Amino acid sequence: MSVPAMTHAADLVLTGGAVYTVDAARRWAEAIAVRAGRIASVGTAREVAGLVGPRTRVLELEGRMVLPGFQDAHLHPSTGGLAQLRCKLHDVSDRRSYLELIGRYAQERAELEWIVGGGWSMDAFPGGNPRREDLDAIVPARPVFLTSRDVHSAWVNSRALELAGITRATPDPPDGRIERDEAGESIGTLHEGAMGIVRRLLPVTTQAEWEAGIEAAQAHLHSLGITACQDAKVTTESLTAYRALADRGKLTMRVEGNLSWERDRGEEQLADLVEQRARGSLGRLRIRGAKIFQDGVMENFTAAMLEPYLGTGTRGISMHEAEELRRIVTLLDAEGFQVHVHAIGDRAVRESLDAFEAAQQANGRRDARHHLAHVQVVHHDDVPRFRELGVVANVSPYWAVKSGYIEDLTLPFVSEETARQIYPFGSLVRAGAPLAFGSDWTVSTANPLLEIEVAVTRVSPQDRSAQPFLPEERLDLPTAIAAFTIGSAYVNHLGAETGSIEPGKLADLAVLDRNVFDPGAGPIGNARVVLTLVEGEAVYADTDLTH
Ligand SMILES: [Zn+2]
Repeated sequence: MSVPAMTHAADLVLTGGAVYTVDAARRWAEAIAVRAGRIASVGTAREVAGLVGPRTRVLELEGRMVLPGFQDAHLHPSTGGLAQLRCKLHDVSDRRSYLELIGRYAQERAELEWIVGGGWSMDAFPGGNPRREDLDAIVPARPVFLTSRDVHSAWVNSRALELAGITRATPDPPDGRIERDEAGESIGTLHEGAMGIVRRLLPVTTQAEWEAGIEAAQAHLHSLGITACQDAKVTTESLTAYRALADRGKLTMRVEGNLSWERDRGEEQLADLVEQRARGSLGRLRIRGAKIFQDGVMENFTAAMLEPYLGTGTRGISMHEAEELRRIVTLLDAEGFQVHVHAIGDRAVRESLDAFEAAQQANGRRDARHHLAHVQVVHHDDVPRFRELGVVANVSPYWAVKSGYIEDLTLPFVSEETARQIYPFGSLVRAGAPLAFGSDWTVSTANPLLEIEVAVTRVSPQDRSAQPFLPEERLDLPTAIAAFTIGSAYVNHLGAETGSIEPGKLADLAVLDRNVFDPGAGPIGNARVVLTLVEGEAVYADTDLTH
C-alpha cells in the first residue's frame, strides 16, 4: 500500500546553506528537512526538495552556515541568570568602572538591605585583591558582597565584615583565606571558603527570582546558539525552579543538572543526593551528575599543585585528601552518578584521575562518562590517562590566552616546566582524550564562537594581534567545533539524540550568518548566530533573518 505523499512532507526545510553536520559519514550538506522535531533528511538542496509539501515552511539560507546546536558542558545558568538581575560587573573590566556601576546600582536600589552581585576581574586589582575602602566610599551604610568573575573570591565592604564579625582575631577557615593587611585586618577580599562567613548572612533568593534567573540565562544562551548545557551546580532551590519551568513547558534548553557534594558534610549526604536525583528529571531536565570541588584556582594559590607556587611555600588546597576523594568517587560511581570534578592544578587532576581509577577497580568499568572540568595544568604523565580511563577532559578554551590572569597572576609563580603544561588541549587530543567544552559562564563569555576562536588561535579576541599562548596546543577548527557539539553531547549523555546533524536525531540546530570555514569569513568570533532551533522550533531568531 502506498502512503500518501503528504505524510512524508517535512514541517520545515532549511535549504541553500553550508550545513556542517559534524557527522564523519557526510561532513557537508546543503539542506535539512525537519519533521516532528527530528531531522528527516540531510542532503543536497535537490534531494531535500522532494520533502517540501504544501504546508512545509521553507527557509532559504542564502549561504549561511548550519551547525548542530552548541552544547556547553560546564556553566552556571541558574546563578548566572540571577547575576543578570543583580549588581552585574561582567561587562566592564577596570576598578573605576566597577565603582561607578556599584554606586549607581546602590543608588537606584535604595530599598535593598544588601548590595549583592559580582563579575569583577582579579586582574583589575593589585595582587588580584580589591579593597573594602573603595566600597566604603560609595556604599558606607549597607553591606556589600560582590563575587569575582570566577566566583572563587568575594569583595566586601566594612559593613559586611562588621555584620559577619570578621576581625583581626578571626582565623582563616581551613578551606579559604581572609586577605589581610600587615596589622592582620581584613582588606576586603575573601577567598574560597572564607566567603561563606559573609555569604550566610545574605537575603534568601525567592523561588520567583530563581525562575526569572533561569529564564534570563536560557534566553541569553539560546541567542548564542546553545541548545543544551550542563549546569555545574544545582541546589534544592534551583532544581525546584527548573522543574517548575519544565512543568509549564518553559524549559526549552536541555539541562544536565549536577548535584553538589558538599565538603562540609560526610558520606551520609549520598542518600540525599540519590533522593534528589530520583525526583529531579522532568522534560528537558536530567539529573545524573554529582559535582565535587577538588581545588580552587591558581590566581589565589588555591589550585592544588604538585610543586609549590614559587616564592610562597604553598602547594594550594586539595579540598579532599586523596584517600577521601577515592572513597567519595567510588561511592558515587557505585550509585550510578556521573562524577564531575572541578580540577585546576596538576595535583588535583592527578588525585581525580587516581580516584576514577580506584572506582573502576572497585566497581568495574561502565559507561559513566565521568569528567574533569577546567584541567588547567596537567602533568605530562597524566595526559594519556584520560583516554585510558575514559575520563572526559571538559575544558574551558577561552582561558588559554596571554591574559593578565596568566601573565601576571600565574606564570610568575610556576616553574618553566609547569608553564608549558597549561591548558594542554592539543596534547590531550593527540593522546586520544575525549574532549568537551564548557564556558564556565558567567566566569567567562558563553559565546561558543569566541571560545572556538580561542581554541583555534590561543589569542584573545580582545587583542587579535597578540602572540599565541603555547601555540602547539592549538586545535584545528573541526576539532574545536566537535568539542562544542558532539563532544559535549557525549558528556551530556545526549550523543545518541543530538550533537550532529543526522537523520533521526533531534533538530537542535544553530544557524550562523556566515560559513566560518570560508577563508574570507574573518575571525570566527565575529560570526553571529541568527537562528536557534530546538526540535525544529525557533527559540531564538535574529530579526535580520526574518526580513
Ligand atoms: Zn564552574
